[in-house]
Amino acid sequence: MMICAAPVENPAGHRSSMRRGACPSLATPMVTGDGLLVRLRPAKPGFALQELVALSEAAEVCGNGILEVTARGSLQIRGLTAAMVPVLASKMADAGIDIAEGIAIETPPLAGLDVTEIVDPLPLAAQLRAAVAACQPPLVLAPKLSITVDGGGHLHLGGVTADIRLRAVRIDGQTFWLLAIAGTEATAKRIAVLDEPLVAPAVVSVLKSLAAMGDSGRARDLDAAILKAGMVSVADVNAVEPVEPAPNSAGIHDLGENGKALGFGLVFGQIRARELRTFLEVLETFGATHIRMAPDHALMVLGMGLDRVGAAQALALGHGLRAFPLDPRNHIAACAGAGACASALIDTRVTAQAVIDAAPSLLDGSLTVHVSGCAKGCAKPSASALTITAAPMGYGLVVNGAASAAPNAYIEEKTIRTAMERVQALVRERKRAGESARSCLTRLGAEVIAAAVRQG
Ligand code: SF4
Repeated sequence: MMICAAPVENPAGHRSSMRRGACPSLATPMVTGDGLLVRLRPAKPGFALQELVALSEAAEVCGNGILEVTARGSLQIRGLTAAMVPVLASKMADAGIDIAEGIAIETPPLAGLDVTEIVDPLPLAAQLRAAVAACQPPLVLAPKLSITVDGGGHLHLGGVTADIRLRAVRIDGQTFWLLAIAGTEATAKRIAVLDEPLVAPAVVSVLKSLAAMGDSGRARDLDAAILKAGMVSVADVNAVEPVEPAPNSAGIHDLGENGKALGFGLVFGQIRARELRTFLEVLETFGATHIRMAPDHALMVLGMGLDRVGAAQALALGHGLRAFPLDPRNHIAACAGAGACASALIDTRVTAQAVIDAAPSLLDGSLTVHVSGCAKGCAKPSASALTITAAPMGYGLVVNGAASAAPNAYIEEKTIRTAMERVQALVRERKRAGESARSCLTRLGAEVIAAAVRQG
């Protein structure tokens, strides 16, 4: 197993980490503002429903009862004490829950089931895990290093940042893999279009280059031209069409002969473990069998008949979940915030709700508003159309950037609603026929938006 962070001994003798960029695994939970946090990825493509029920019960007993699904689709249990971490591990072992370790090799939430996929990416992901595990000496890599393997389906991982990206592409009736590094689908540098047998050796070669940089080496530090020169591409990487943005996970997804998957989002990424458990127990009576974690803080429920979909969505709303693609809360990303994270300077959930109340028509599905408790931007590391981040005197507003970028305008704490109303009014006044909020904001540019916020 890869050691994810430089751990420290806490008073109870458990190893935990406060290091930025660390990986808060069960072996090295992370210290946060509300106790220890562990992040879990199932070893299989998802959890059996009863496994997630067991994890919810364990989170109630061992943690502070708050569960999260991250922007990448990992499960987090918050508020653990050092003494309760081994209890959690034991409860997970009793429930037969198998957790992935080592480098994150991620596949889309409906991998292998999505009828729009060019190819099922799960076998290649398994092949990559085996290839990495077989490396001798073992590769020591940055804890947060990640690889995405995307079969080319509609619910893809294009918006998720990754060090190494693989996407199935179809050229002249044959399937190949587009390899890119460092970023999202839109921002990553394309390296080569590879025949499948060459993919694992190519990825291992990139990983060895990263390992040579030490345990903080990330793909953004690699020279793309050198990588390109060392690989045989079967086609021009720039001739591969970009993908359309993925639909929101919340809602119904057609799986052809595999039935339907029903997506539910956690509001601002969190839910009480008790709420999730009672929700899942009813879903089981509706026929649900498995749950997959999805990006955008969502759960994909599998196994339910179409006749129970309406009842399940109504139930989800009663449990405070997002169940429909048009829910404006789908388009806000907020981190744990004050009270849950020691670095947070603002209550992100209160701020996110204020944005929804003040400017609902901005959240038309074309953009994401990101509310971040500090410049780290955990809820959405990539750029957002609008990012509201904590600043010493209130908030910083970043236009078309990430939480770490220099704000284009500052907003006093008590005027956040007014500021967002002004942005909404600006878009309403200046939007052209058929234009989305995102397109309008992009056309207006940061200066105009910042001026509207400052001047009213
Ligand atoms: S972005 Fe949010 S969760 Fe991440 S460190 Fe900052 S305050 Fe904490």
